Amino acid sequence: MHIQTLAVQALRDHEHGAVVPPVHLASTFELDPATSGGDFSYQRGGNPTRAQLETVLAALEDGALEGREQPSRGFAFATGMAATSAAFSLLHTGDEVILPTSVYGGTFRFVETGFERLGLGARWVRDLGELTEADFGESTRMVFVETPTNPTLRVTDLRRIVELAHAHGALVVVDNTFLTPLLQRPLDLGADLVVQSATKYLAGHADLLAGVVTTRDPEIAEKIALSQKTYGGVLSPFDSYRLIQDIKTLPLRLAQQQASAITIAEHLRGHEAVSRVLTPGSHDEREARIQADQADGPGAVLSFELVDGVDRVRFLRALRIPAYAVSLGGVESLICYPATTTHDAMTPQARVDADITEGMLRLSVGIEEVQDLVADLDQALDAAR
Ligand SMILES: *Cc1c(COP(=O)(O)O)cnc(C)c1O
Repeated sequence: MHIQTLAVQALRDHEHGAVVPPVHLASTFELDPATSGGDFSYQRGGNPTRAQLETVLAALEDGALEGREQPSRGFAFATGMAATSAAFSLLHTGDEVILPTSVYGGTFRFVETGFERLGLGARWVRDLGELTEADFGESTRMVFVETPTNPTLRVTDLRRIVELAHAHGALVVVDNTFLTPLLQRPLDLGADLVVQSATKYLAGHADLLAGVVTTRDPEIAEKIALSQKTYGGVLSPFDSYRLIQDIKTLPLRLAQQQASAITIAEHLRGHEAVSRVLTPGSHDEREARIQADQADGPGAVLSFELVDGVDRVRFLRALRIPAYAVSLGGVESLICYPATTTHDAMTPQARVDADITEGMLRLSVGIEEVQDLVADLDQALDAAR
């Protein structure tokens, strides 16, 4: 089965033949009095609806329902940050993590405000593409990667990072929110864990927060399961059900969003009011090659800069279709100004280091008719000049 089919058909209710899965709301489950055992005991530790979602998440990561020697396991969390926190919970006091300065703002905040108290170290690198042996210390235990990066859409060679990290006994965690397993499957490239904010493309309708961890390492899987149960940031049965349903249309949504994003990027590149358009692979030929090699497409987020003299606020106010809002991946187009929204936790210097310029806007392309989006961007650019 193709991944598009799996998204719809990974689950079957064999009991009643219902074409959508049942929602099990029970907080507690009857146990065998002899052993106090059972498939499920208490909702935080696991419940049938979340387990069904986790089956779908693992199937998407593997591109298959079964037949893999080492299949993925998926874990559903209440938010993407809960999933990222679960990945960080694998660390011990004294461990160091290598991260790119352009990492997601919430992850940046976790590292900046939480790591020191937890006795963890962070080594910020401006460009993971330039990571070398010398960046690894004795206590480096993890490399945290986002490719493409947000909002600069820089591409990191995952195979190279995996090779370097594993040679130094460090785990590789990839935040795959921007591409989803439909376009990029980091575990196939050797990464140890994938985290995703399912709030974005997987859920896709700007009405649900969720996070995902996937891994093929049985030991790591046990630790993530324990962290899910211990820290308790689990996804509810009802939201698990909703995410199962949302994932069914993910392939269609993402295909449309990506096609539109490509059209819009091309259009803006030719527009005299726009000075720079950033898409995965646009940085240079090397990154274009890596992107083509490790992903099946650029996704549907792009960033661009207005030329001097085009008023940003006037442009944003003149837009009729994309809402000025943070977040991404939904069916509605959204636009935001990273410097004062998604990346405001960074110091101005940290933003300069990450190449997040004062003029940069980030557009998450939705499923509206692309001609309408192009016309709307054009009229707003005209109005701002
Ligand atoms: C939104 C986002 C997160 C955090 O997810 P939440 O569901 O908001 O907690 C993490 N990483 C990336 C790349 C994101 O875009």
